[in-house]
Amino acid sequence: WRRVDRKAEAREAERQHAGRALHVYPDEDGTVRIRGRLTPEVGALLMQALAAAREAVYPKNVPAGTCAPGVSQETPTMEQQQADALALLAETALHHGIDPGAPGERYQVVVHVDAPVLADADQAGQSVLEDGLRVPAGTSQRLACDASRVVMRHAPDCRVVEVGARTRTIPPALRRALHHRDRGCRFPGCGVRFGQGHHLRHWAHGGPTTLSNLALLCRRHHRAVHEEGYTLDRQADGELRFRRPDGRVLPEVPLPHEVPDDPVHAIRARHEAQGLVLHARTATPGWLGERLDLGWAIDVLHPLARSAAPIEWACNWPARHHSIT
Ligand SMILES: [Zn+2]
Ligand SMILES: [Zn+2]
Repeated sequence: WRRVDRKAEAREAERQHAGRALHVYPDEDGTVRIRGRLTPEVGALLMQALAAAREAVYPKNVPAGTCAPGVSQETPTMEQQQADALALLAETALHHGIDPGAPGERYQVVVHVDAPVLADADQAGQSVLEDGLRVPAGTSQRLACDASRVVMRHAPDCRVVEVGARTRTIPPALRRALHHRDRGCRFPGCGVRFGQGHHLRHWAHGGPTTLSNLALLCRRHHRAVHEEGYTLDRQADGELRFRRPDGRVLPEVPLPHEVPDDPVHAIRARHEAQGLVLHARTATPGWLGERLDLGWAIDVLHPLARSAAPIEWACNWPARHHSIT
């Protein structure tokens, strides 16, 4: 049942991912409305960013009466604070350049995941965001690929008995070397500058955190590898090899279309072989303003009429066709 359960979960995650959307549009009075839907882990990221920005705009524990006289003492509502926080997020993003940096350095999306689940998605165990929302094991494996890691040991009664030090799964120096080597997402044809370090063999499976076991992937393609069935390995010569979910190899650079030495001649030859005679007036319509023959149009186009009277259609068509050209 575990496998079936996991498949259903993967389908649900796929549906959520496909349903992601953000609508930002001006309303009639000039204000801007926002409506959208995010996957759980991106939602957690947004809420965390909003909370951080809110904290910066409206610090807690400011004693009453510290504002200048005449300034409104009324605390804005939560919704108003959220709106101000979003404005600060937008300003900050534009001011500092759109660069997400290394995940885990500036923000944290906390995932609690049991060690067996991280090593094998089919194992029973929890994989939940901080607010208790379950995420598929593939997602927690992706988030854990390049993150801060805190190992906790639990007693049989679930009490935490030991908390390890927080460590980066990819140390900063190694990350710099990885960026220098890969220079962006390694997925064929992508090359997006910002990336996350992907362990070819996951550290939870005992994969080492070394340059040869790492590849830089953008968020989208990191997801493709962990959650959409694409696979990635390093060949003996050190080159990466990506495979589609069906196992076919993705070429590093797509093969260009073959262009013959004299393309015009080649196209003419192909048209002659197909019996096409194309000239300067070919695209000029032959219609002279006749009324539409609806009965004929339905006979020709409607699938039911066509299957009911295939012979009649076959006979009628050329005759009528000539009458209107
Ligand atoms: Zn990964
Ligand atoms: Zn990419």
